[in-house]
Amino acid sequence: MQLKDKVAYVTGAASGIGKAIALMYAAEGAKVAVADLNLAAAQATAEEIKAAGGQAIGVAVDVTSEEQVNASVEATVAAFGGVDILVSNAGIQIVHPVEEFEFADWKKMLAIHLDGAFLTTKACIRHMYAQGRGGSIIYMGSVHSKLASLLKAPYVTAKHGLLGLARTVSKEGAAKGVRANVICPGFVRTPLVDKQIPEQAQTLGISEEDVIKKIMLKDTVDGEFTTLDDVARVALLFAAFPTNALTGQSLIVSHGWSME
Ligand code: NAD
Repeated sequence: MQLKDKVAYVTGAASGIGKAIALMYAAEGAKVAVADLNLAAAQATAEEIKAAGGQAIGVAVDVTSEEQVNASVEATVAAFGGVDILVSNAGIQIVHPVEEFEFADWKKMLAIHLDGAFLTTKACIRHMYAQGRGGSIIYMGSVHSKLASLLKAPYVTAKHGLLGLARTVSKEGAAKGVRANVICPGFVRTPLVDKQIPEQAQTLGISEEDVIKKIMLKDTVDGEFTTLDDVARVALLFAAFPTNALTGQSLIVSHGWSME
């Protein structure tokens, strides 16, 4: 029970990586706000946690809306009495060559990944400061926080940007014991990735099998996907770590795809 009596607010927690983190945090004793654009799926995840003996609520949020972020964080604080852990995880992927990228899609990507990280940080850190018991802020970066791939200009830009936000928040939050770190996963089989495989195959004119072998897993040490459990374990490490010794960091969990 590494997170006993902690309160965690996790965005994008109705699916994929966010859901795996929400389930692991709840199993470790945290009270979890499952925050997602998809309220029905968020509530279903919260029910799953409760059925397993944990504590959770589902809350609706579009992380690009300041009003909705603030309202969902306030709902979390009202339900559980505070917030100790933020996992800013909600994200999407849109792939095109840069010369074909619609400006509206570029802005949508930066809004979800960067505005969402800023708005959730601002809403949660105020409570963490006021509570006086520190806190842990975790951003879902990517191997693409460290390197680039074809067709992903806004994603790579946004994921690099999270490193800057985490480093700044780690400096500002230090005096109050609020830590900020970035998790950088390699490819994990979630709906976000499953959608990209046929899209990339079409854009690059290669088979789906080649997208997986020759692009996605090409530079790993063993040709393996990273798993939901792998990423959730790193999220638990950052959430449970007790001191400022581990802050302003980014940890790559990618089967050695990147060793930066
Ligand atoms: P997913 O599609 O399985 O889940 C994403 C969740 O975010 C969904 O439940 C969706 O409803 C929610 N969401 C989308 N837009 C939102 C918004 N505006 N406001 C609130 N919620 C919103 O995706 P995933 O693969 O679990 O990705 C989660 C995060 O992990 C993303 O930030 C992604 O960039 C990052 N990531 C994923 C991989 C991977 O291989 N899957 C690798 C590295 C990083």
